[in-house]
Amino acid sequence: MATTILPEAEIEVSKSEDKASAPKYVYFFGGGKADGHGKMKDELGGKGAGLAEMTNTGLPVPPGFTIQTEACREYMRHGSVSKEVDRQMEAALASLETLQEQKLGTGENPLLVSVRSGAKFSMPGMMDTILNLGLNDKSVEALAKRSGNPRFAYDSYRRLIQMFGNVVLEIPKADFDEVFDAKKKQRKKKLDTELDAKDLKEVIAEYKKVVKKYTKRDFPQDAREQLVMARDAVFRSWENDRAKHYRRINNISDELGTAVNVQAMVFGNLGDTSGTGVGFTRNPATGTKEFYGEFLMNAQGEDVVSGVRTPVPIVELQKSMPEVYNQLREITTRLEKHYRDMQDFEFTIQEGKLYMLQTRNGKRTGLAAVRVAIQMVEEGLITKEEAIFRVEPNQLYDFLVPRLDEKSGKVEVLATGLPASPGAAVGQIVFTADEAVAKAGHGAQKNPVILVRAETTPEDIHGMEVAAGILTSRGGMTSHAAVVTRGMGKCCVAGAGDIEVIEKAGEMRVKGQVFKEGDWISLDGTTGRVIKGKLSTVPPKADDPELTKLMSWSEPFRKTGVRANADIPRDAIQARAFGAEGIGLCRTEHMFFGEKKIPHMRAMIMARDEKERRAALKKLLPMQRSDFIGVFGAMDGFPVTIRTLDPPLHEFLPRREDLMVDIATLSRLSVKQKKALVARYKDYGAKKTGDLQELLKGLLKRVEELHEFNPMLGHRGCRLGITYPEITEMQARAIFEAAVAVAKEGVKVKPEVMIPLTATLKEMANQAAIVRRVADEVFKEKGTTVKYLVGTMIELPRAALVADEIAKEAEFFSFGTNDLTQTTFGFSRDDVNKVLPTYIAEGILKQDPFAVLDREGVGQLIRMATERGRKTRPDLKVGICGEHGGEPSSVEFCYQIGLNYVSCSPFRVLTARLAAAQAAASDLLKVEGGRTK
Ligand code: PEP
Ligand code: MG
Repeated sequence: MATTILPEAEIEVSKSEDKASAPKYVYFFGGGKADGHGKMKDELGGKGAGLAEMTNTGLPVPPGFTIQTEACREYMRHGSVSKEVDRQMEAALASLETLQEQKLGTGENPLLVSVRSGAKFSMPGMMDTILNLGLNDKSVEALAKRSGNPRFAYDSYRRLIQMFGNVVLEIPKADFDEVFDAKKKQRKKKLDTELDAKDLKEVIAEYKKVVKKYTKRDFPQDAREQLVMARDAVFRSWENDRAKHYRRINNISDELGTAVNVQAMVFGNLGDTSGTGVGFTRNPATGTKEFYGEFLMNAQGEDVVSGVRTPVPIVELQKSMPEVYNQLREITTRLEKHYRDMQDFEFTIQEGKLYMLQTRNGKRTGLAAVRVAIQMVEEGLITKEEAIFRVEPNQLYDFLVPRLDEKSGKVEVLATGLPASPGAAVGQIVFTADEAVAKAGHGAQKNPVILVRAETTPEDIHGMEVAAGILTSRGGMTSHAAVVTRGMGKCCVAGAGDIEVIEKAGEMRVKGQVFKEGDWISLDGTTGRVIKGKLSTVPPKADDPELTKLMSWSEPFRKTGVRANADIPRDAIQARAFGAEGIGLCRTEHMFFGEKKIPHMRAMIMARDEKERRAALKKLLPMQRSDFIGVFGAMDGFPVTIRTLDPPLHEFLPRREDLMVDIATLSRLSVKQKKALVARYKDYGAKKTGDLQELLKGLLKRVEELHEFNPMLGHRGCRLGITYPEITEMQARAIFEAAVAVAKEGVKVKPEVMIPLTATLKEMANQAAIVRRVADEVFKEKGTTVKYLVGTMIELPRAALVADEIAKEAEFFSFGTNDLTQTTFGFSRDDVNKVLPTYIAEGILKQDPFAVLDREGVGQLIRMATERGRKTRPDLKVGICGEHGGEPSSVEFCYQIGLNYVSCSPFRVLTARLAAAQAAASDLLKVEGGRTK
């Protein structure tokens, strides 16, 4: 029997001289030996590397070859692969034929192959697969004869035409479905499996007509031509929209390309002793150590993963085929030990013989990631240091996902499906991905929708992304919906079989009730329950013992401080519970939005002169002071950075257009309507309807005075405090009076007063002088002194450029990367979405720079400002408080350039802590990021 030496040998002795130095494009595996190995994911992709490794360890893997990713990149560059790829593929095919003692698509025992994609990082279902390749009008007869099962042979052939037609020839799937459904109807059959060999032959004839209609040629009968076309189609599928979209949301580079795996077919649909399944060595939702899998007898792989038929739990296999079950357990346990991580595997049983088709590190929820990491340390499989890399920082959200508040309403359980991805989701039903996008608006929180589908397919990805939760009526724990939502950290209930989803009618039927688009339902992804109506959700607790344990391993590595952005005591308390070591940004303007404060705030803005403004500020002072007392108390022992007033003042006033309409229509309003208007303008001093005319006119005048064409570049930030110094005075007084008050109570208070949006040293000096003067006054009045700092936000490129100057006055810097990104790119942070989708689709930007710090541009300003600032003031404390402060890759960058801390919203504190620890640990340990991707 042939071994694997042939392809290599043939290449080496090839005729042309430069061939010897040609890259190795094709890697063979089979006969117990592989050209590649498990570490070659860059070249072979995850699947190809896994197949090579399994073959090398002697596992039963159907033989084949992997065409490496460089060929895909070549295809992307030139629209075709080089002759050398064709030549090496031919050679590998020859080896495969020799090893199998079969010929591709010919002879009495034709060789059939699968052609599958396989990128470095797993992208479940995003690219294309073709099975049963090699079948044609002749070989199908041979297969029928040899298997003694004509139905199986014709079913395999019709699947090939369908997959090939759809993937390679780009014929809509619906055209094939129509033919198939018509045949079932004609035969009065419900299930696919009820059609017999004769029916399927007729289906094949119809399918061929579909192919001819679309492509103006016959379905290719030459198996080698099929193979080349299929290979190229898989390369092309790297660039399909859903694959691009998946890469974007998972931060996978577009440059990588996919490998193509060509592998001898084994059949799970050869009858009752055949089957196919998938599984995990541990539970991917909870992390529990249990053999976890699902399978279907007499089925092909696609039937399991696509969720078309609901598979049965793997324990059933133990009953029906105990030997195969035991072998599978033994193999997968070995695989887990070998890879030292939880495995996600696929297998096929062909007439009682087990074959392993794939193994890879399994995707898992955050809960499972933490639990599996801890178990593996306890089992001695990995070290504690490795364990901290087994959890993606963003996965810690799973510990923070809400639960349903069962007391908030009647709990009527409509159905129970599989708890595919934990958490709770409450929203309005939509039946298609496009409706989800249309209805959800921006971000799932804005208008929560639940995407209800019979099953999801990769085409639904854009809808899944915006939905608050996903419900499917078919499919198992490894269905597309389950796998993808777990990756997204999104609640999902899958395979709720009692529910009937009728997409065309826009209906969901269950328990004799009909639900339409827009009806509310609640999902519990932790138990699998589907509940009628709109329940509330309760926030989670972050004191899970296993999470605490993992954090206790990671924390000693962390060098970067983690603070929270919090404006009110409740958020400060929450942030401390998540491990925040201070407040990095307290936006004082948020404190003015309270019902009692806003009229005074408005009065201050409306003030015609300093006297009036001071009067309003006097009213605000005690309220600000008590807010600060609350925040200082919550942060006892930790620093609290308080920013002086920042936003454009008109944000607190009514819109100019609304005022104009109200003035124009006032005389026509009924008494009732006028009273409603008085209520609306009561904060501006309206008491009775007679006041309205005068008041609205005055308001409009002031709004027009305050109107700016570019408010974000306008009268805001330190410019406010410089033009109205009494505002900074009042705020400084509130801060220091509060600080002195809590200090007297024994609270360790460390105020840091932060001046926003400075661009020059003189601005900083102006505001710092006010703060320091007021501090002295308060300390003198109260007879107590408190240590404090005065610093600035760096939010403008000019500030970064003259950071050495500004540091003469500023005792700390905090990078406001929201504004710094806005001002560096010149993108309006509120309007960028008009441009961004195109920029990302065109590859002009790789990521949203407002979400992930732009290291090359904004990052360089940060690095430079930090260096320049520290030249002037070596002990300058430097942090970041824009949204990037809680995003793992940005946190890593902040660590690398030596920032003292990052500050983020309370719910991202855990993520930032782990990201900062990983950044430092990978530096120290030179650990290759072993994260699950
Ligand atoms: C920033 O600009 O990054 C910042 C934190 O300030 P704000 O978002 O309030 O403008
Ligand atoms: Mg800002």
